[in-house]
Amino acid sequence: MDLKFKDFKLDEKIFEGLDAMGFEKPTPIQQKAIPLILEGKDLIGIAQTGTGKTAAYLLPVMSLLLSNPRAENQIGALIIAPTRELALQIDTAFQGFAYFAGLSSAAIYGGGDGAGFDVQKKALTSGTDVIIATPGKLISHLNLGYVKVQQLHTLILDEADKMLDMGFMDDINKIISALPKKRQTLLFSATMPPRIRELSAQVLHEPEQINIAISQPAAGIFQGAFMVYDMQKVKLIKHLLQSKPLKSVIVFCSKKTEVKEIEKELQGLSLKVQSMHSDLEQTERENVMNNFRNRTTNVLVATDIVSRGIDIDGIELVINYNLPSDAEDYIHRIGRTARGSSTGVAFTFVNPKELGNFHKIESLIEREIKKIQLPESLGEGPAYISIEDYKKMPRSGPSRHSKGGNKGRPQRNNKK
Ligand code: AMP
Repeated sequence: MDLKFKDFKLDEKIFEGLDAMGFEKPTPIQQKAIPLILEGKDLIGIAQTGTGKTAAYLLPVMSLLLSNPRAENQIGALIIAPTRELALQIDTAFQGFAYFAGLSSAAIYGGGDGAGFDVQKKALTSGTDVIIATPGKLISHLNLGYVKVQQLHTLILDEADKMLDMGFMDDINKIISALPKKRQTLLFSATMPPRIRELSAQVLHEPEQINIAISQPAAGIFQGAFMVYDMQKVKLIKHLLQSKPLKSVIVFCSKKTEVKEIEKELQGLSLKVQSMHSDLEQTERENVMNNFRNRTTNVLVATDIVSRGIDIDGIELVINYNLPSDAEDYIHRIGRTARGSSTGVAFTFVNPKELGNFHKIESLIEREIKKIQLPESLGEGPAYISIEDYKKMPRSGPSRHSKGGNKGRPQRNNKK
């Protein structure tokens, strides 16, 4: 059946918000989740960013808040998210939907000044409908004893797997112990490792489970890979950025030290470059993201802080300066380009040590990523070794012979 939003028993005011946002048809996760949440069920949603999961929980939760009165100073729903960026993005989505519903929200995250703390305290004590918080900051407020969660209707754990990866398990348990036992709990996670199963068993009551199959990279993304030695990477990135005029590019590095190095290396180009990593203050992070959003900055060099959930239109190119440690993060990273129905390009740099992880990515996305020759000016790169040949190799890893049988050439040391 071709479901429409109007088929759901959502509050009329929510439909006004949906019209204003231009949403017509619910996505698969919305089709499954909205009726269950409206029935008051607990829910495990295995789904990634990009599937429409934020609206899948925000819309029914908002509708339930409109029809369930509570004392004036109490918080209605609490959303816990792993990063400030995601918390802010959820808050922005909420603001769009809630405009006509007259519901209030506040994002609670670290990195602000004392004045910010007081504003957050006010939000947590004066009856805000929806609080969106990162775990650590919420704990600081909870420890001070004034957070009004006694009549909380719904708790939402968003990107639960990411939160556990980031070491927030204890914080999450602490937060949950401060909440009323009788509540609705929704848990969203891109993956379902055993630790998430355990957490679900502890905090959810007879949950329904929805699986939205792992979303493969959008068809509009051209995916290419360069086999490179580490010493060739900076030259290659400069070459790619200078080959054609680009307005919006993200370069992903796994470590913040690399982010800073690459930002410096790229400063000399005609493009405006900024970096994003966990050492930045909250206001700096917001400025960096705003500059990138409005194209004041053309190249954003970032850690995986922005690989998930960040929704910016018109990113033309994603460069993976190195491979993410988790194959699924590859899908998240390259999903920053070709949002909606647009097209984009994702280039990945693979050094010989990363071949194993590279094969894992190709298995996950069930297709080969096109191997691209290095530009001549960079010299020869390492040889690509197919997954079949790679498996046959001794455990010490791939040889570093270059393509084209240059047997006499000294092998390069590829140590970082
Ligand atoms: P999310 O997975 O929640 O991060 O959503 C990904 C993007 O899809 C966001 O830009 C949403 O605004 C958009 N979106 C979500 N649901 C719908 C829908 N039913 N129709 C159109 N766009 C949507």
